[in-house]
Amino acid sequence: MDYKLLAERLLPGEYPSPAFYEEKYPARNLPKGAEVTRLAPSPTGFIHLGNLFSAITDERIAHRSSGIVYLRIEDTDLKRKVDGAVEAVISALKYFDVKFDEGAEIGGDETYAPWYQRQRAEIYRAFAKKLIEEGRAYPCFCTEEDLTALREEQTKNKEITGYYGKYAKCRNLTEEEIYKNLDAGKPFVIRLRSLGNPENKFKFHDEIKGDVTVTENDQDVVILKSDGIPTYHFAHAVDDHFMRTTIVIRGEDWLASLPIHIELFAALGFPLPRYGHHCSLMKQDGETRRKLSKRKDPELSLEFYRKEGYFPRAVKVYMLTLLNSNFEEWYLKNPDADLNEFPFKAAKMSKSGALFDLDKLNDISKNELAKLSEGEMAEFLREWGEEFGTEAQKKYFLDGEKLMRALALCMGVGGKKRRKDFTTASQAMEFIKFFFERPAEHEAYRVTDGDRRAVLQGFLRRYDAKDDAQTWFSKVKEVAAENGFAAEMKDYKENPEAYKGSVSDVAEVLRIATTGRANTPDLYTIMQILGEEETRARLQAEV
Ligand code: GLU
Repeated sequence: MDYKLLAERLLPGEYPSPAFYEEKYPARNLPKGAEVTRLAPSPTGFIHLGNLFSAITDERIAHRSSGIVYLRIEDTDLKRKVDGAVEAVISALKYFDVKFDEGAEIGGDETYAPWYQRQRAEIYRAFAKKLIEEGRAYPCFCTEEDLTALREEQTKNKEITGYYGKYAKCRNLTEEEIYKNLDAGKPFVIRLRSLGNPENKFKFHDEIKGDVTVTENDQDVVILKSDGIPTYHFAHAVDDHFMRTTIVIRGEDWLASLPIHIELFAALGFPLPRYGHHCSLMKQDGETRRKLSKRKDPELSLEFYRKEGYFPRAVKVYMLTLLNSNFEEWYLKNPDADLNEFPFKAAKMSKSGALFDLDKLNDISKNELAKLSEGEMAEFLREWGEEFGTEAQKKYFLDGEKLMRALALCMGVGGKKRRKDFTTASQAMEFIKFFFERPAEHEAYRVTDGDRRAVLQGFLRRYDAKDDAQTWFSKVKEVAAENGFAAEMKDYKENPEAYKGSVSDVAEVLRIATTGRANTPDLYTIMQILGEEETRARLQAEV
């Protein structure tokens, strides 16, 4: 068969030669040992922990070797494309301090652009045409129905499914049959003519998994779909070659396709990059471990961490803990170090599933938040508030002094003893809410309505914002005594029957009336921060 003629018929026109592309996308000029890595997401708009897992790995491997990490957008599947998805990837990863050197919407060295696969159609076609000319690729006219029937037959016979060997019907079409189909206008895809034999197995060194056994590919995979758009397999080979990737880091789901990629690189005459397949993030679900799921686990989405207001360093610390087995120990020794100083190594990555545990992240988060200075905490909360806060929360930042005093009291910020009960910005903001907003609801009072009123009135009569803490408390005791509550805890404990309750019940009334809550930090200080007018108004409103 005249393959040249066939190639011209299938992909008419002049295409540049391989040599042209080799020159257009030359080897990168980087120091010896510098790695080139990439993140290659599909623009679906859903950015998840798996992306962050890959991205941190890519970024660390590149930057620890004075190399380059770039962002390529795999948008060959238009059905899944969402507007703004690329910007969303960039901003989600930037939040966790993963920055790309070049790529879609980032710019950088234009030599290897464009970074959107849709804009690279010509290169894929040029190489598909070359493979057809060499007899290494052929048109396949099988319809969806044909393929479904084939799959069913293979499943019934307990055989491997796919388009290969004797099942690859179109592989052996005669010249006459091919042209007849083309003349009839039948749609076609282009498939690789595999030369592999699945009886042949060989060792392959994966940068993360170590030595794995790989079976030779014999699948005649599709390389160009009927609309001329490449499949992942083909685009991967062409792009990672011409963008000069040195290590392909991707999820272990792709390990099964590695034989295809090895054959494709060989057929195209490209040297194979190194590969590192990282394990999937798993979750303990009762007795079983399963992959995190988009439907069941909101924590899979990176948006979750931003919306909740996780401190980005905490998430990164946890990711690094999962990624490198020696990170935890290093971090214990270097708790305040720049995370980029950690000697990250692909070979230290976990080979089997990494168990993601939100409780563990929450613990790390509390510790990280407790390390922030006053200024850092205020800045972190303000940034979160601007993006995700309610209108009311955005206003908390107008009174900086009050905010600082509230944070000092509630979180121990700026003080020696830090409270570690906050995991996220949203929690912290919710906790300090009562300083800035009058309580819309009050937790239940434990005393009768009559006692509540009498206690509030008694306190209001005595209250003076200039009192020191001791005087303030003696006044609370007076109110207690006046209303049949024990002024001293000791008296109450000795003879509980003699009282309606104790001074702590009285303080609780004041606390709930002022803040809406039965549990808060020191009430005297809260009243000091609120100021006399506001405190009086709140107490009065509950009389
Ligand atoms: N577009 C592929 C994905 O999102 C990329 C896999 C790879 O990194 O090669 O799964």
